[in-house]
Amino acid sequence: HAKRSGRHVLNFTPEMQRERDERLYLERELQGALARDEFTLHYQGRFGLPACGLAGFEALLRWDHPVQGRISPDKFIPLAERSGLILPLGAWVLRRACEQAVTWNFPARALSMSVNVSALQFEQPTFVQDVRAALQETGLPGAQLVLELTESMLLRDLGLARQHIQALRELDVQVALDDFGQGYSSLSVLQDLHFDHLKIDRAFIRSASTADPEQSGGSRNARTVLEVMLHLAHRLNIHVTAEGVETEEQLQLLHELGCDDVQGFLLGRPVPATAAGDLLGPLP
Ligand code: C2E
Ligand code: CA
Ligand code: CA
Ligand code: CA
Repeated sequence: HAKRSGRHVLNFTPEMQRERDERLYLERELQGALARDEFTLHYQGRFGLPACGLAGFEALLRWDHPVQGRISPDKFIPLAERSGLILPLGAWVLRRACEQAVTWNFPARALSMSVNVSALQFEQPTFVQDVRAALQETGLPGAQLVLELTESMLLRDLGLARQHIQALRELDVQVALDDFGQGYSSLSVLQDLHFDHLKIDRAFIRSASTADPEQSGGSRNARTVLEVMLHLAHRLNIHVTAEGVETEEQLQLLHELGCDDVQGFLLGRPVPATAAGDLLGPLP
């Protein structure tokens, strides 16, 4: 921990020094990782209630470092944002995910591919053009692509967000508000911007369904808030996905509350393309 001593605000402890060294090391390693082909995409299914039929996939980035092994996106995405590498990396993810959806014959199936977008990527003046190019070059219909955006990135420049979301809608691309209910989410973005999907954060699903008796007051409140969120989203014509569904109890609760889709380890972990492809049924 940082100690205050005299006029110095920070004293670097060996622990902080180690973390800083690791960050710098990973940042350096990240530079060449795309060219060295160290990234892959995994795919996690999204399932429609009540039957739990496959509704689509979310593409999730994986970095397999030759020495360090697999490094979590929660760790390397912020570093890639800082260095700007997220731009070529994000473009690669978008292209790869659209290609995969076409390989899986999405145009002949009622499925959609969800792609996470970073703040820096979304803010590029060419962002919508890049999406249009990825659709054109891969042949994926815009309506089968969902772009997942977070509230904090949208609030950085609401005017730009409105403009980009409007232009995406003209391409028929769907827009999802990711991680809803995480931290201090407000309702203002729901009022200001037009979303097709709302993804309720895992932490929220957990607190709404907890069986811990000491938490039952909190869990009752969380459940009420969840119910109202679902009602609100549905009134706004927004489709709701619950993230991080891990237990039958959570699934049952979400079903009772009228949630549209579920995603989580209970139904399927993120897996490489070959395994994800096995979830696809025969072509209609
Ligand atoms: P996210 O977009 O909220 O993705 C959901 C995360 O929750 C994924 O972690 C997924 O593996 C994990 N997850 C899914 N179901 C469950 C569950 O039932 N229980 C638990 N405990 N976890 C579950 P992952 O793949 O490690 O990704 C973490 C974050 O990294 C993502 O959060 C997203 O913000 C970011 N990310 C991943 N891929 C990309 C990408 O291609 N581009 C950008 N910009 N960000 C990405
Ligand atoms: Ca996401
Ligand atoms: Ca999320
Ligand atoms: Ca997240």
